Amino acid sequence: MRGVVFTGERGLELMQFPDPAPDTHDVVIEMKASGMCGSDLHQYRRPKGQSQATGIPVNEGPVIVGHEPCGVVIAVGSAVDAKMARIGQRVMVHHYQGCTQCNHCRSGWQQLCQEVPVKVYGNNAHGGHAQYLKVPANTLVPLPDELTFSAGAAIACGSGTAYSALRRINLSGNDTIAIFGQGPVGLAATQYAKAMGARVIALDISQPRLNRAKAFGADEVVDPGSNDPVAAIKDLTHGRYADLTLDTSSNPDARLNAIRSTKVWGTMCFVGEGGDVHIDVSPHLLRRAIDAGGVMDLLQHHPGGVRTVLGRARHRRRQPLYPSLVDRSGRRGLPTVRQAGRRQGRVFDVDAISPLPRALGIGEDRR
Ligand SMILES: [Zn+2]
Ligand SMILES: [Zn+2]
Repeated sequence: MRGVVFTGERGLELMQFPDPAPDTHDVVIEMKASGMCGSDLHQYRRPKGQSQATGIPVNEGPVIVGHEPCGVVIAVGSAVDAKMARIGQRVMVHHYQGCTQCNHCRSGWQQLCQEVPVKVYGNNAHGGHAQYLKVPANTLVPLPDELTFSAGAAIACGSGTAYSALRRINLSGNDTIAIFGQGPVGLAATQYAKAMGARVIALDISQPRLNRAKAFGADEVVDPGSNDPVAAIKDLTHGRYADLTLDTSSNPDARLNAIRSTKVWGTMCFVGEGGDVHIDVSPHLLRRAIDAGGVMDLLQHHPGGVRTVLGRARHRRRQPLYPSLVDRSGRRGLPTVRQAGRRQGRVFDVDAISPLPRALGIGEDRR
C-alpha cells in the first residue's frame, strides 16, 4: 500500500509500505477518511532532521502520518473478542497506545501514560493517510451509523479535542465563552458551545474564519488584528470578562489575551499545541483566582457526547462540522495529491494536499 510521509521543510512523499496484517490483539482498518489536524502542520513544517517539540517520543524511520483515522474493520487478531471489534464494523481510532494497564490507560487516557513511551498513530507509529491501518483493538471507538466517515475523522482528534476542552472547563448554558482562534478546533468549539447553550465570543484575525464562526452560531466575533481583544471582551461582558476562555491558536499573544480576558474565578484552557507563553503569575493568575490548564482529546470518553452535541447542532439547522478534514474543494491553485501521486516518490508540497483522502483512494462519506 501507499502511505503519506512528512519529510520535513514542507515536503511529503507517497511511500510504499507492506499491507499490514493484524497481530494477536490488533485489527486492520480499511481507511475511509483521514483528517489533517493543525498539529500535523508542526511536523510538516519542521526543519529536516529536527524532531518535534511536543513531548512525543520520536520514531526515526519513515512513519505514515494522519492521526484522525476512520474506516471499517477488515481483519481482527486471534485474541480480539467480538465485543471489541468485528469485521465490517465502522470505527474511529483513539490514536494512542500506552501500557494499557496503569490508571491513566485503564481510564481511557492512554496518551497520559507514564509507564512506557506512548505510541501515537500518525506521529511516531503508522497512521491513517494510507489505504490500511493496523492498531490495537482497544483503540477503537465505534462510529455511530448517523455519522459519516468524514465526521468520524474530524471527531477522532480535532473537533473531539474541542469537545474535550468544553467538558474540561465545565461549560454550561449559563456561560459566556471566548474562543481564541477559529481554525478547525476553534470552529468546532464554537459550534459545540452554541449547541450546549453558551454565549460565544469568537476571535480570529481572519475575516473568512470569523464569517464561518458566525455561520456556526457565534454570538459575537472579534478581530484581534484591529481591536484590543481584552477590551472588546470586557465591553461585551459588561466589564466582567468571559466566564471561560480557550486558546486554540498557540499564538503567545492570544494565549495571554485569553488569560487576561477571563473573569475573576474563571477558567482558561490551552488547547493549541506547541509554542510558549509568558505569564506574569501574580497579576494574571493569583490576583484574579484564575484556573488555567490544558487538554487533549478524550475520544474514548465521549463518542456519545459528541453525537448528542452534533445532533443538537443539526437540529438547529447548522451544518455538521468536519473542519479538520483537508479542504476537499481543492481551490487553492495547487496540485492535488492525486496529481502528485502520478509523480510518486517525488517530494511535493503538502499545502497541495487538498483532497488527500480521495487522492489516496480512500473513500469519503460512504457509509
Ligand atoms: Zn490532532
Ligand atoms: Zn499506561
